[in-house]
Amino acid sequence: MLRPATEHLGMETFAIPAMDCPEELGLIEKGLKHHAGILSFEPIYLERRLQISFDPRETTPPRIAEAISQLGFPAQIASDEKPADRPSGRPLRWWTTLIGGVLLAVAAVIAIAAQFLGPYLAINVAHATLAAQVLCVLSTLVAGAPVAKAGWRALRLRSADMNLLMTVAAVGALGIGEFFEAATAMFLFGVSLLLEGFSLDRTRRAVHGLAALAPTVAHHIHGDHLHDINPAALKVNDLVLVKPGERIPVDGVVTEGISSVNEAPVTGESVPVEKEASAKVYGGSLNGEGSLTIRTVHTAGESTVARIARLVVDAQASRAPTARFVDEFARRYTPGVIGLAALLAIVPPLLSYLGLELVTGVAPSEWFRRALVLLVIACPCALVISTPVTIVCGLYRAARRGLLVKGGEHLENAALVDCVAIDKTGTLTTGRAEVVRIDAAPGATSDEVLRVAASLEQSSEHPLAAAIVRAARQGGISLQQPSEFTARRGFGVEGRLGGELWFVGSPRMMAAWLPNVADTLDSRQDDATAVCIGTKDRWQGTVYLTDPPRPDAAESIAAMRDAGVKRVVVLTGDRRSVAERIGKLVGADGVEAELLPDDKVARVAKLAEKYPYLAMVGDGVNDAPALAASRLGIALGSGASDLAIETADVIVLAPHLTKVAELFRLGRTVRRRLRENIALSLGIKALVLVLAAAGLATLWIAVAADVGASLLVIANGMRLIGRGKEQAPGSEGT
Ligand code: ADP
Ligand code: MG
Repeated sequence: MLRPATEHLGMETFAIPAMDCPEELGLIEKGLKHHAGILSFEPIYLERRLQISFDPRETTPPRIAEAISQLGFPAQIASDEKPADRPSGRPLRWWTTLIGGVLLAVAAVIAIAAQFLGPYLAINVAHATLAAQVLCVLSTLVAGAPVAKAGWRALRLRSADMNLLMTVAAVGALGIGEFFEAATAMFLFGVSLLLEGFSLDRTRRAVHGLAALAPTVAHHIHGDHLHDINPAALKVNDLVLVKPGERIPVDGVVTEGISSVNEAPVTGESVPVEKEASAKVYGGSLNGEGSLTIRTVHTAGESTVARIARLVVDAQASRAPTARFVDEFARRYTPGVIGLAALLAIVPPLLSYLGLELVTGVAPSEWFRRALVLLVIACPCALVISTPVTIVCGLYRAARRGLLVKGGEHLENAALVDCVAIDKTGTLTTGRAEVVRIDAAPGATSDEVLRVAASLEQSSEHPLAAAIVRAARQGGISLQQPSEFTARRGFGVEGRLGGELWFVGSPRMMAAWLPNVADTLDSRQDDATAVCIGTKDRWQGTVYLTDPPRPDAAESIAAMRDAGVKRVVVLTGDRRSVAERIGKLVGADGVEAELLPDDKVARVAKLAEKYPYLAMVGDGVNDAPALAASRLGIALGSGASDLAIETADVIVLAPHLTKVAELFRLGRTVRRRLRENIALSLGIKALVLVLAAAGLATLWIAVAADVGASLLVIANGMRLIGRGKEQAPGSEGT
């Protein structure tokens, strides 16, 4: 998301419980136009919140909250909001709608009774009709009171929102004596808002359910004692016992015990993972048959599940392209239809007054009535609500499957990905390399080579480094502590051992000092990654390592193609021969080898010229710039470096490449739903519009169509989360 690149930027979220319809956001935006220092608005509809970025030199959050409140929308800084401030129980609208409904029902009974039973029961039809009409007016007034109040709010801002339109329509209907019509429309409108609020609450509860994965009790180990405490009270580095079958309370590292842990709730990985000492475990995952002692690494609030839940909620603030488009469209649509209504009320009667009968036999009051129906159609609520609801359901579903998507736009971009650039080491491969051969220079032994290499690599986080250190440990080689250690991204490492400066890294790094180093490479080891060891003027040896592709690599690349990806390119800092072999093995379209981190960025930029929806998949520190440069940056595995996770747009928690294709497929599903919803809401509007102009639609039909459309689009969006909610995530079908 683009944010103004200034350090003078404040960001605050405001809770606005009275924000019923996204349309009202437009009112707030308009009302704050003259408030100095406000830079941008991002709505979080589902939460009835608004995220505002502002210039702190010109305004403050309390002043913004005050200004919003003055517009008639009581607002609060979200972080100050206490749960008690959330509206609870039945809102006022519930009562006004109920009373309006009862009055309307009584009116209907009287009218019908007078009509059909009048002659038999000696009811004075005129009196009964009058009574029914009075009841209808009362019903309209009661059910319409909150609507009129909200409409007044819009009028003051010289804006036409649905409340104002409904008020005008109802008053107009009463004016031309359509009492029953006015009351029915107002009643249905109240019902529609209630139903809409209800389904939105359901969606919100589902999304918040993500955070509910955490257990409510943790067995805190304190000396010899076991205390059952609330996980929220745990601190970092506390010891916690997790019994068989229990949920792990917070993120931690296993210190004792062996057990298989089901991480599905967090990573979407449905196969349980075997955990033993020093393994990382996630809060919210389910412990299997063993009992585990863990040392906490995060507090409950900072644990991965909690962060996932927050991310999904916050991700709503980044408006997806479709949402922007729809908001923009709605901004023109409403005045357009109002204009049409005005024309319909004025032009045909005027023409007939001038003797030019457009459609014969339609009275001016009938044109007026049709115009009122158009006013109802002008409310864009169903259309505007459809996108955010669909997106948030998509984000939720993604999260349940271990795909952390940082915003709706990324989900939409995922649907359009046309080219994928994949980092090799640790992304396409397992990153668990094995030393397969060690060459030593004449006069040196392979143990000496390995000792130097491993001593330097101890401090590196690179997968190759880990393999070299492991090999040395297995060989029983004792390591030395280097001084002046530096890691050179994409090259290798250097440091001093006993006063002498050593290099451990790619043949290319070595070639800067030893131009002939390429001659020392063993051509029989072309399939293996070469790590050369030497000093400024002496080649000491070379360690060859192989790093096999992930077992699901080839299958995943095929699945990406199925999901619409046209080109898959492997990017690596490794040797060309190795890269080409792996590329062929997994079925990539191309490989780009011997790249430095900056070269990767350049390659990504080059590819992006041809493929605007380029996704970069990476894991390491050296991928972060490329992740940032691509349209969609995907960090694979929760083991990915913090920098990569920070930069990426999507984090795939379980280290499975197949999840990337799943992300693209999910993106496509979400996009399809978005389109369906737009088509659905606009289609229904168009239909009623035509019916209304032809005089075939009444006010209540227009309102009912609006209710129907809103509920349909919400339900369609919720299909994304509804199905398989009880199942373990990851085992759901697509
Ligand atoms: P990739 O782009 O495939 O993820 P890197 O950019 O991390 O690979 O590394 C590129 C090459 O640089 C490796 O193949 C290796 O030869 C060398 N290299 C990088 N870091 C190290 C290190 N810590 N130890 C040894 N070699 C390294
Ligand atoms: Mg890598």
